[in-house]
Amino acid sequence: MRKKETISPEINFEKTAVKVSAVSIVGNVLLSLFKLLAGIIARSGAMVSDAVHSASDVFSSIVVIIGVKLSARDSDDDHPYGHERLECVAAIVLAVILLITGLFIGSAAIENITSGNYGELAVPGVLALVAAVISIVVKEAMFHYTKYYAVKLDSGAVMADAWHHRSDALYYFLINL
Ligand SMILES: [Zn+2]
Repeated sequence: MRKKETISPEINFEKTAVKVSAVSIVGNVLLSLFKLLAGIIARSGAMVSDAVHSASDVFSSIVVIIGVKLSARDSDDDHPYGHERLECVAAIVLAVILLITGLFIGSAAIENITSGNYGELAVPGVLALVAAVISIVVKEAMFHYTKYYAVKLDSGAVMADAWHHRSDALYYFLINL
């Protein structure tokens, strides 16, 4: 009946991990809506597809919540040592999502370079710059916030989500260089 709460008695593992993931979801939803609106105003297809990316990031936080919820269940007859391994499974799922996202970003970048179609990437105007800076700042802040709790909770799944935030920040930085 060993639960993670017994490791860090001052914080509740399940509650805290769900709270951190909920903050990530709210952050990504707000970023997505902001970029969708900016994309429509600026008539930018690139920014609208950015909005879709931020919306899809919600999915990885949902995976964290599911993994944490499942792993927090008590041991039963079928699982006498508890379900903590499920949190590890969630971390692996997130790593795969991050890898696939990275491959998509990489192939899109190569496609843009080889086709010489730089116009699609670059969103003109001040609005695009503002959107990029806001995306980078918010994502980097989400990385530090999530990483802080991932260390505290000793959670691989929460840590994977934290690194996803930083990879997104890096991505927005690179495409706006
Ligand atoms: Zn992402």
